[in-house]
Amino acid sequence: MTLTPRTYLVKTLGCQMNVHDSEHMAGLLEEAGYTKAPAGDDVADIVVINTCAVRENAATKLYGNLGQLASIKRERPGMQIAVGGCLAQKDRGEIVTKAPWVDVVFGTHNIDVLPAMLDRARHNARAEVEIEETLQVFPSTLPSRRDSLAAGWVSISVGCNNTCTFCIVPSLRGKERDRRPGEILAEVEALVAQGAVEVTLLGQNVNSYGVEFGDRGAFAKLLRACGDIEGLERVRFTSPHPAAFTDDVIEAMAATPNVMPTLHMPLQSGSDRILRAMRRSYRSEKFLGILDRVRAAMPDAAITTDIIVGFPGETEEDFQETMRVVEAARFTSAFTFQYSPRPGTPAFDLEPLPKDVVQERFERLLALQERITLEDSQALVGRTVELLVLDGGGRKDDGTARLSGREPGNRLVHFTVPDGAEEPRPGDIVTVAVTHGAPHHLIADSGIAGGTYAVRRTRAGDAWEHAHTDGHSHGDSCGTGGAPAGGPVSLGLPTLRVGR
Ligand code: SF4
Repeated sequence: MTLTPRTYLVKTLGCQMNVHDSEHMAGLLEEAGYTKAPAGDDVADIVVINTCAVRENAATKLYGNLGQLASIKRERPGMQIAVGGCLAQKDRGEIVTKAPWVDVVFGTHNIDVLPAMLDRARHNARAEVEIEETLQVFPSTLPSRRDSLAAGWVSISVGCNNTCTFCIVPSLRGKERDRRPGEILAEVEALVAQGAVEVTLLGQNVNSYGVEFGDRGAFAKLLRACGDIEGLERVRFTSPHPAAFTDDVIEAMAATPNVMPTLHMPLQSGSDRILRAMRRSYRSEKFLGILDRVRAAMPDAAITTDIIVGFPGETEEDFQETMRVVEAARFTSAFTFQYSPRPGTPAFDLEPLPKDVVQERFERLLALQERITLEDSQALVGRTVELLVLDGGGRKDDGTARLSGREPGNRLVHFTVPDGAEEPRPGDIVTVAVTHGAPHHLIADSGIAGGTYAVRRTRAGDAWEHAHTDGHSHGDSCGTGGAPAGGPVSLGLPTLRVGR
């Protein structure tokens, strides 16, 4: 009698690092014999919640999710719930105390134990909590189930050596650990061999990559080395840190054709006084100077940022400094946040500003950035762009019948396939001209007016087609080209145990 494999679902809260960790959690579960729950299902035999601890509402989101799952679990014997990520690393056993229907709690340093802990909890019929203080296994050596065939995340380091006073990350992800360049390039080559045409290099602070093995120029060298990888069309990275951002990185970006002209550079505040209080070791002049040099080397660079409004002690003058820098920086877009005190951070005990003051400033900043973002979009009308067609490239909506892709600046572009023209597959490259600039996306309908429209089939498109035809069906997420259908990808790198 063939047993129906148990299904799993990974819910991800938080940043790209969590998105990437979730791909490894999914890969581990598939290697252990579980199958991904069908797209659209929001329950499964195993539900893993990969948590974030950065924002105040992070805990609310987790316990809200767990509350909903409690009643479902009562109706579904054998269902197991696991909680991982930064809030698990921080709250540990407290999660089981608050939500005793949780079966497994694991941390940011020991993702690899997830399948074994699920088995143990099932066998012992009790909750299992296992948190490590330091990294046990480099997540990138673990199997992964990627959400996209065409594009992949490659982490180059974990942890952070900085001590920004609002940030909980260093205490939850530890000091920076750097992977060896050879390992990173091997993983990039393995992803390209599976059909990926784009990779994003991932680290809490990619500019200080190499600090652990004493090579300050390691990140620029890594970017240049990615330029030599056959078939790799697009390289992106996140997140750099202004304090450690050096000119060799700008030169490497400008000199390496497949490194995309995009930069996500967290400003956090435009006020030097507040930057000092945040323990961000740069000032607004240096920040703007970097942007000037980036734009001198890459005039089309698309620069985005993170900004916190309402840090304790922020005066109207400080806020005006943020507005001045934002006006001067002309960011393509910005992630803007209201300051959120986090237990365990150096700034936690500082007197917070009144909520209405923060809200009012937040709205002024949003209005300014929205204006700049729209002007940036409108300035691209008429520009011919190459788009990497997105997974789930299904129609944006029935009304418009447009597909979607991302241009080199990582802006989202919706485009129309002219009647009778070749329809691209997810992962293919389409050349179109921008016909309309909207606040948070571009429209490129050049093809329907007999204008620019061309499709270049890529290996990523081939891999997608392979994964979605011949009876292969991988639901909404792409299988892993080259790997057994639906199987996780083991990159053949020996499991690296750190610190034992
Ligand atoms: S650089 Fe600062 S904000 Fe970023 S992860 Fe490190 S401590 Fe947190």
